[in-house]
This record gives sequence, structure tokens and C-alpha cells, in this order.
Amino acid sequence: MSLSYADVEAAAHRIDGIAHRTPVLTSRTADARTGATLFFKAEPLQRAGAFKFRGACNAIAALSPVQRERGVLAFSSGNHAQAIAYAGALQTVPTVIVMPHDAPAIKVAATRGYGAEIVTYDRYKEDREAVSRRLAEARGLSVIPPYDHPDVIAGQGTAVKELIEEVGPLDLLLVCLGGGGLLAGSCLAARALSPGVEIWGVEPEAGNDGQQSLAKGEVVRIPVPVSIADGALTTHLGNHTFPIIRREAAGIVTATDAQLVSAMRFFVERMKLVVEPTGCLAAAAAFEGAVPVAGKRVGVILSGGNVDPAALARHLAA
Ligand SMILES: *Cc1c(COP(=O)(O)O)cnc(C)c1O
Repeated sequence: MSLSYADVEAAAHRIDGIAHRTPVLTSRTADARTGATLFFKAEPLQRAGAFKFRGACNAIAALSPVQRERGVLAFSSGNHAQAIAYAGALQTVPTVIVMPHDAPAIKVAATRGYGAEIVTYDRYKEDREAVSRRLAEARGLSVIPPYDHPDVIAGQGTAVKELIEEVGPLDLLLVCLGGGGLLAGSCLAARALSPGVEIWGVEPEAGNDGQQSLAKGEVVRIPVPVSIADGALTTHLGNHTFPIIRREAAGIVTATDAQLVSAMRFFVERMKLVVEPTGCLAAAAAFEGAVPVAGKRVGVILSGGNVDPAALARHLAA
């Protein structure tokens, strides 16, 4: 069964009343600077601080009663973990989170705070999927991966569904990507609700596996990238996400860490919004001209806002 917009609609129905309908923000300054009409979907204001709550909620809501009782396992560099932990707590499903030993402190603390059990691993030495699989088998847990899962992808698509329902058809849609769950879900929603829209993915320059994958026509694997965009440090797209992205996206462009910092500063100074580095990827592509936006109606997904206050201060002071 292949994923379609009907799955995004079903997800929207399941998460209604649990996930927030986040605001769409505009900025005359940003429009003047780019010559475009930009619509920022503000997922930093989503529950648990990122769009990941959407996919997590949908995937947990789709479990059977037996699966719910045994609990779920997630492996994540942060936001997916928080999302699963919080969505599990709200739906009274126990959660186990496998996290890298060097995950940002704010994300570890928040995840534990939602009541999840945390198991750590070394992401430069161990394979998180293997660690997770062992644990899940031993304890009968359902694994909900951060991006390569139909229910997760469908849930992530609800952000763009809301965006287009609110502002109308778009000429362009800019979406950040790590493993491509958000981008794939966004493609399903955007193509159905604004058929003529041109969809671009944006990933860190240091981790452009998505760009390489589109060029090669198959999923390309890279070493763990080094970037401040800690939500997009994935090494490859997924088996579910890649075909959708390949079919629907016009292409993938990149942003540098310096461009992300510049965008973060803009959101704090001008829009009073804390956007984490990964959450700035799509906006950076618009601000820096990686995708020409002048004269167009452009949807820009701000994917999350979970950044350590100390790290935010350091970035802004530099
Ligand atoms: C996970 C995450 C991404 C990347 O999402 P994928 O579905 O893996 O492409 C982007 N931004 C933030 C804030 C995230 O947490």
C-alpha cells in the first residue's frame, strides 16, 4: 500500500485536539528582503517544540491495544524522542528512548521530564538501529522510527495541510530535511491541496546526502555529518521517504551553518521567535537565494525551536 493524501487526512483526524494547530506568521521585513510573500509555519510552537509531535501522535494513536500496553521504543537525536515521550504520556503508553550520548542537554532533560525511560549509545561507534532492535525484541516494544514509517510521514504532512488550508495555494514550498519524513509528508499534502506548487527540500551543506541521492537516483549513505543543525544529522533518506521525495520534489538545496545562525538571529530579533538551527534551514534557503523566491507566494516550514538557551546565546553573540 502506498501512502497518499488520504493518509495525511486520517492523521489530521487522529491528532486533532492533541497536537496544536500552529500559527502561520508573516514578516514585512522578510518579504521586503526577499521580494516574496513568505508564510512561516511556526512549529517551534508545536507541543514538545517541533513538528515531530504530529508523526509521533499519529503513530501511537494507530497502535493496537496490546501494543499500547507493552509500550513503544524510539531512537532519536532529540526531537522525535521528546515527541514520542510526550505523545506516549498523553495517550498513557509507556516509552523507551534510545539517544546518542552527546544529545543536547535540553532535549535529554525534556524527554526524561515527560516520563520516558532513556537508554544511551555512542553514535560514532554503535548503530542505533541495531541497539534499538535488540532492546525492542527483548521487551516486546513497538519501534517507531523518526522518519521512515508511513504513520510518521502521514502525521508530519499535517503541518503543510494546515498551512495551505489557512493561506491558500502556494507557488513554492520550502521544507528542511534530515531523513525526509517531514518533506515526504509535506509533498503528499502540498501536491493534493496546491497541485502546481514547486517543492524544495533544504538540508545542511555538510550533510547533503539527499541532494546526492536525487542526483544518483538511489539512496546515498554518508558518514554522520557535522553541523549545528542537530535535527538533520541523518546519514541517509528512508525507503518510504525517498520515492515520494524523488517523485514530488523539484530538488534539494543546502544551507551553511553561518546562514542558519543568521536566520536564527533574524527570527529572534525581528519575529520574537526561537527557531533551532535545523528549523532555520528552509528560511535560510529563502533568505540566501538558494531557491529564487522573488514575486512568489512561498510556504516556509520552521520545523522546531528546541535549542539550549546557552547555545542560542553563543550563536547570537558570535
Ligand atoms: C527531525 C527534524 C527535522 C528533520 O526531519 P526529517 O523528517 O528527519 O527529515 C527537521 N527539523 C527539526 C526541528 C527536526 O526535529
